[in-house]
Amino acid sequence: MNGNKSMAGNNQMADKMKISEKMSHVGRKIMILSGKGGVGKSTVAANLAAALAAKNFRVGLLDIDVHGPSIPKIMGLEQSKIQGSSEGILPVQTGDNLKVISIGFFTASSDDAVIWRGPLKYNVIMQFLRDVVWGDLDYLIIDSPPGTGDEPLSIAQLLKPDGEAVIVTTPQQLAVSDVRRCIQFCSKLEIPIVGVVENMSGYVCPHCGKQTDIFKIGGGREMAEQLNVTFLGNIPIDPQIVISTDEGTFYLNSPEKFPAKKAFDAIVEKIMESKKNQQPADIDIAHSGSETRLAIPSANGKLCLHFGHCQEFAIFSVNRGAKEIISTETKTPPQHEPGVLPRWLKEQNVDIVIAGGMGQRAVSLFSQAGIEVVTGAESLELRDIVTAYLNGTLNTGTNICDH
Ligand code: ADP
Repeated sequence: MNGNKSMAGNNQMADKMKISEKMSHVGRKIMILSGKGGVGKSTVAANLAAALAAKNFRVGLLDIDVHGPSIPKIMGLEQSKIQGSSEGILPVQTGDNLKVISIGFFTASSDDAVIWRGPLKYNVIMQFLRDVVWGDLDYLIIDSPPGTGDEPLSIAQLLKPDGEAVIVTTPQQLAVSDVRRCIQFCSKLEIPIVGVVENMSGYVCPHCGKQTDIFKIGGGREMAEQLNVTFLGNIPIDPQIVISTDEGTFYLNSPEKFPAKKAFDAIVEKIMESKKNQQPADIDIAHSGSETRLAIPSANGKLCLHFGHCQEFAIFSVNRGAKEIISTETKTPPQHEPGVLPRWLKEQNVDIVIAGGMGQRAVSLFSQAGIEVVTGAESLELRDIVTAYLNGTLNTGTNICDH
């Protein structure tokens, strides 16, 4: 048993060494992340890779979106086949400077949903880094699945200490709140953030060039400013992106000067200018000026001291910078069991819990879930507690865990 374990350990070590050797031939390794699907992350990954290649950089594009590899379709490479060589897996070459590997090249059809569990996904991603013959590259652009699940985590760990991240969002408030989770993910894994891209940001008329803001634009820029992350630029909605993808041609390869092309070029310039490690990764989301969610266990409009057994939670969205309450809602928690409340409050996007008393074990479960806990608050009117908290005048006594 122990012998098997140590063999597995040796293999892992050998894999890591091979990956380090391979990756030492690659300049910058940039993961393209998004908090949720459908924001155009793969479109941005493909077009940024191609725009860099058009500037004569040697670029690799790695698509590790196990559940929906869309890079082959976006790039018009659906018919491409992977070839092996004695040195490893050969990527698909497109144009002079761009090499592409996608999980989609290995599945029967790129529409196949591949259902793999965490360890298998890790192995596949590890093999892509270890076995693909990239050669010397200036940039490796990695299209990860949305969210902060197994794949982004695996690739971030395998690239450590070298990966960087570009975060893609859309202008709507909801998408912007997903960005915060991505930033938190990068912060926890100490991944420098190159910047935030706001996609589908306004519509530029191809005839007169006038921009119409279909959704409120600028949420991505605002968020980037608040969190001290570089804003790389906006990409307008461009119907030609959808048309090109449907036709199996690649948007950026078409000779016309479509509106989003200029935007991709400008963003690439900013990426080229950005120096690795320039971003501080330790961004304190809860203490920035952006929206924060505070939860208070409550009964009859007041703080309830019986934390685990309260009837409901009042959840306040607040702007800590402006010291303002934005909105309030009341939610009924699921039945009390250890670990349930931290999970449930995390699902409600709560950042901070204000409680009267709480056991140490619960405090540590909240902290693992990334939720800050303030204990020792008095049983006052809820709004008064929040206002006092925002103004830094909340009286907190001893953490009396009465349950
Ligand atoms: P994600 O990888 O985030 O799930 P995709 O890159 O697959 O998103 O894009 C989702 C859809 O939005 C696709 O149909 C794509 O063609 C379209 N799309 C992405 N960006 C734009 C844009 N700037 N203008 C118009 N359509 C876009």
